[in-house]
Amino acid sequence: MHKSQIINELAESRDNYFNAVSPPIVQTSNFVFHDFASLREAFEDEMSAYLYSRGLNPTVDILRKKLAALDEAEDCLVLNSGASAIFCAVMTNVQAGDHIVSVQKPYTWAWKLFDNVLPRYNVTTTYVDGTKLENFEAAILPNTKVIYLESPNTLTFDLQDLEAVAKLAKSHGIVTIIDNSYCTPLFQKPHRLGIDICLQSATKYIGGHSDTVGGVLTGTKAMIKQIFDREAHNTGAFISPFNAWLLLRGLRTLSVRLKAISESTQKVVEFLKNHPKIEKIYFPFDPDFAQYELAQKQMSGACGLVTIALKAQTYAQIETFTHNLQHFLLAVSWGGHESLIMPKCAGIRPEEFDAAQQEHRLVRLYIGLEEADYLIEDLAQALEKL
Ligand code: PLP
Repeated sequence: MHKSQIINELAESRDNYFNAVSPPIVQTSNFVFHDFASLREAFEDEMSAYLYSRGLNPTVDILRKKLAALDEAEDCLVLNSGASAIFCAVMTNVQAGDHIVSVQKPYTWAWKLFDNVLPRYNVTTTYVDGTKLENFEAAILPNTKVIYLESPNTLTFDLQDLEAVAKLAKSHGIVTIIDNSYCTPLFQKPHRLGIDICLQSATKYIGGHSDTVGGVLTGTKAMIKQIFDREAHNTGAFISPFNAWLLLRGLRTLSVRLKAISESTQKVVEFLKNHPKIEKIYFPFDPDFAQYELAQKQMSGACGLVTIALKAQTYAQIETFTHNLQHFLLAVSWGGHESLIMPKCAGIRPEEFDAAQQEHRLVRLYIGLEEADYLIEDLAQALEKL
């Protein structure tokens, strides 16, 4: 199905709601039953009917159908954050005594789950450099149940060869989960490459306006039902109808936003590349990027994140650069309309700063919907003052 049809037409049953163009926010916790038999049926299978909004809801269902179709998946759940999508996807696939292989340095709440929560249930994790397939192969144990991927990650954009990892995992009966937040289903289709579960932080590009938090999980009907019946219900992690409606509204413009952001980011990258104050630039669609060929092979676009290694000697210099930017907000997250800056060294104390470590001098920029020349002018003046 064409992405325009999915985004604009799929699952819109307007004659059910007064022919309104925009679907209603079905703001109810509860649904009425007219007879005993249909209530009993809903008790038996809560996915068969609307029973209670900590479960299915009509507004959320429109979004589920669109996001499943965009990911070319059988089914989808929309949860109240990307972090809960990570939690549910992983927890549903492990039992006490199991083992996980994860890419190194995955998103914070993924590694905190692996390091702080799961060891209490005797589930262990081995982290690997996911840029090489043989590292996954070497880390697999007889009790490995999950391979956790994030391709690209959102700092240095390390990729995994998704098709090869999926093939390897299948040959061992291991479930693959990918955090696809960076690409969204528009720029990468992991299910096509054999990955079992795709998750996204919908807070980022799907929402696109920094005004709501949400998470998406897609996979087979059976896998999604298992998560629906267990982890999602036990955590009560479903998205609210209003937040689902905001995500639906964001989704309408996803394609045009990504197009604009990609074009601006490319221009910003061209400006930053070879700038005398910048030692290195990380951007997956830069021909000098270490995994450029793989990025071109499995991604159809690169979005608004770009990381630079500043030629700074001190913590204060990075602070000065950051403070001099007029149009980049100092904030976490990304994927909204507004450009952002996140220096890696903001996470350490000034006395811990070591200029010899490139990681301390990394600064992640997020290019939003402002015009490229407006942002480039700002970066130029702030780099001048470095
Ligand atoms: N995955 C990635 C790559 C992220 O950057 C984030 C949030 O920053 C998440 C997952 C978690 O999503 P959420 O903030 O919606 O819980």
